[in-house]
Amino acid sequence: MVLERYGEGGKIMEQKISTWLKQQYPDMIARLLAWSEINSGTFNLAGLNRMVEVLEPAFAELNAQSDHVDLPPYDVINDHGQITPQPLGKLLSWVKRPEAPIQILLCGHMDTVYDLNHPFQSCSYINDQTLNGPGVADMKGGVLVMLYALQALEQFADVSQIGWRVMINPDEEIGSPGSANWMRKWAPDYHYALVYEPSLTPEGFFAGQRKGSGNFSFVVHGLAAHVGRAFDQGKNAIVGLAHLTQALNALNQQREGVTINIGYCHGGGPVNIVPALAIAKLNVRTLCRQDEFWFYEQLECLLDTFQAEYGMQVDWYGQFGRPPKIMDEKQTAFYTLLAEVSKEMGLTAHWEATGGCCDGNNFAAMGLPTIDTLGVRGGAIHTDKEFIVLDSLIERAELTVRLLMKLSNMPQK
Ligand SMILES: [Zn+2]
Repeated sequence: MVLERYGEGGKIMEQKISTWLKQQYPDMIARLLAWSEINSGTFNLAGLNRMVEVLEPAFAELNAQSDHVDLPPYDVINDHGQITPQPLGKLLSWVKRPEAPIQILLCGHMDTVYDLNHPFQSCSYINDQTLNGPGVADMKGGVLVMLYALQALEQFADVSQIGWRVMINPDEEIGSPGSANWMRKWAPDYHYALVYEPSLTPEGFFAGQRKGSGNFSFVVHGLAAHVGRAFDQGKNAIVGLAHLTQALNALNQQREGVTINIGYCHGGGPVNIVPALAIAKLNVRTLCRQDEFWFYEQLECLLDTFQAEYGMQVDWYGQFGRPPKIMDEKQTAFYTLLAEVSKEMGLTAHWEATGGCCDGNNFAAMGLPTIDTLGVRGGAIHTDKEFIVLDSLIERAELTVRLLMKLSNMPQK
């Protein structure tokens, strides 16, 4: 059996897979163009539903059991400082051979960072190998890699030892607040996680270590007053917020590898009123779990000082949704296997640390060996210059099939 997989028979099978994937190229491109021109910003529910309508029949070709989930709404702080539930799209999932001894979790997302009002809504060719478009790399291209790799695996490989679950979430770009619970629920049943984020560089570098991330909102409550009649009786929430954000920003100098980015401020209204409300939102990036505790400690201390000094109440919300991904022994061993498989294809696998995070952070923190940049080669993601190197659709699909075949032959404890 083993000889069959890696001997002459294995070579013929690899050839068949490679040939078949190349034949699928026109279909892949057609789907990429169609999917990328469906706006699926995280909060565009109609667009996400349209994505469901195209993903459903595409993944139905795999004859897997569907296990879709409705997600609870995500709470955001609005400009009035109130918690407002934002509905999320559907989490799609399909399961195949859950009884097989080796189980792989493959993960992608259907949402993009471009909302309906964003000017970037359609694709255009930069040259015959490079396509610019919303989500072409992050990650509609990646979802296609996953789909065609699984099709090839199911058609040509010996799949008796390997089962899988695909999950495609609608909320990755806001930190997977709704789907993270499902990852936690499903992860213990799997041995490895493969995530289809685009490569770090157009040459195909993979992400190794990843920073963790948390999002926080602060609502400062001042006191409104007429600026002419009772200025001294007011407490200016904007001025309070300015001091608070300065103090938060000063934390940037205090701990190696931790960054705090004040990304949003809102407050005030008519200028003849002392403003009673101001809001700030920020993102914190971390290198290790201890950084999270450090931040909470600093925050507590800073808020106590602020409230004592300015006499304004501050409500805060948020948490660390993405734990840092650490390249421990388990992760390094999995990346070494990826390098072996890449080498068999004539490719060199490089990986680098990144400050960016994704669902791979969550799977790695749950103890799964996780490679999370198995999607297409491309670049300039999250900007209107986003592009995909088109032939990487085939290359990366082939890489996934070979990796899955290799994993299906690994002894499991
Ligand atoms: Zn992404």
